[in-house]
Amino acid sequence: MAVDRAREIRNAATPTADALVLGAGVAGLEAGRALRDAGLRVVVLEARDRVGGRVWTDRSLAPHPVELGAEVVHGDRADTWGLVRRLGLRTRRWPKQDESLVQLEDGRVLTMRAARAADPDYDATRTMALPGVAPGHDEDLDAYLRRVGWTGDQRRHVRRAFANAAGDDPQRLSAAAIVDGLTSDDAGEGDFRLPDGQDALPLALASGLDVRLGVAVTRVVAGPDGVGVVTRPAAADGPATRWHARAAVVALPLGVLQSGVVAFEPGLDDLKGDALAGLRMGPVIKLVYRLAAPPFDPGAGVEAVYARGAPPMWWTSSPPGSDTPIWTGFVSGDGAADLLRLGPEVALRRALSALEEAAGRPLAVVEGRVVAWPDDPWARGGYSHVVPGHHGARQRLAAPTPPLYWAGEATAPEGCAATVHGAVRSGARAAREVLAALGS
Ligand SMILES: Cc1cc2nc3c(=O)[nH]c(=O)nc-3n(C[C@H](O)[C@H](O)[C@H](O)COP(=O)(O)OP(=O)(O)OC[C@H]3O[C@@H](n4cnc5c(N)ncnc54)[C@H](O)[C@@H]3O)c2cc1C
Repeated sequence: MAVDRAREIRNAATPTADALVLGAGVAGLEAGRALRDAGLRVVVLEARDRVGGRVWTDRSLAPHPVELGAEVVHGDRADTWGLVRRLGLRTRRWPKQDESLVQLEDGRVLTMRAARAADPDYDATRTMALPGVAPGHDEDLDAYLRRVGWTGDQRRHVRRAFANAAGDDPQRLSAAAIVDGLTSDDAGEGDFRLPDGQDALPLALASGLDVRLGVAVTRVVAGPDGVGVVTRPAAADGPATRWHARAAVVALPLGVLQSGVVAFEPGLDDLKGDALAGLRMGPVIKLVYRLAAPPFDPGAGVEAVYARGAPPMWWTSSPPGSDTPIWTGFVSGDGAADLLRLGPEVALRRALSALEEAAGRPLAVVEGRVVAWPDDPWARGGYSHVVPGHHGARQRLAAPTPPLYWAGEATAPEGCAATVHGAVRSGARAAREVLAALGS
């Protein structure tokens, strides 16, 4: 059946390419770039009216770029550095380790250095140095930490910091996957800002590529003679366009694949088994504020705050000396879902109270924006994590099913999944698989 459909799509197809790439996030763009550089005719199909996907830089809120999606390069050896250096992009190490402010459970607000000295529970959780006890396959992170003897206070710190950054609450995170990620991360140390905007990365990858914007993939049919893809205009009703190629790289977000809005033949269950059920898009939101005045004395150099309420993580994207104070709250899991239920206006007010509590005074807002990634139809969540009992799902999602090849942050190895560099790595891997299969 799928064979006939692929042929049917091919017969009616716009003459197209050797390879199609579905999705122009950094994973799809890296795959497209590598295939094009190898001499293939490549077309990238993208639903949004811009490239970059979850790399999304705003230039309307402030005179400096403000990141609404990916914010920093995680690690001094992350795969993104090759591109950053080739483009000659400015970078700035983010001094959040020692100088950040931390509001401890008892309400005290200290620098991170002082908080680590004052509170052994807090200090233990900053390094996530775990004993050499292997987690059970079905164990969630909270259960695992309890089993290895972490106290309630320590686990609360983990929820606010580590798990919040991992995209969900500890009971929803696979402990086996987390421990694998902690021990296999090869990206190195530190976080680095790109002061001229993260979007320089996707824009550079897209340069010279045939990227069709505003084109939503609705159907993908794989057969022995290649791949048929149907698209429709993303913004309005419009006629379907049919494409055909020898191979396709599927670089769509996990949330889009799980939603069923793109019909696959054979079906995703046949192609991917239980891989999709083993992964979840963490609900991740950012609340971005342009404040009337900086919340902290500019001389103190405070660039990040770990608050007691939700959002627990706050940082400023304003460069030192800027007179436009932009502060971003970052929250995932139930804390994010609770804020989203309130609607944007109330959520903005409620969330700011967490920063106000740490600052010890009310803060006046010039402009605020909720960036609700779970509500974004082309992302359907922030980034992926493994569900307890499903460690290994990423590899199953990544496995090639010729003529389809799979990329995107959810398919990256655990140590770099859910990041920009992991997505880039997955795109490079999928391109190598296509080239090997096509004998190019
Ligand atoms: C709030 C937030 C903060 C983050 N912070 C960081 C950070 O500081 N550092 C870091 O390294 N990473 C961070 N990340 C993660 C990082 O942004 C992602 O891992 C990475 O950008 C994912 O790239 P991707 O190409 O896999 O997916 P995406 O960027 O989502 O690309 C997929 C593309 O597919 C398109 N698409 C979807 N559906 C269709 C369709 N039907 N038809 C056609 N196109 C479609 C989408 O529009 C999108 O462009 C953050 C993410 C979020 C949400």
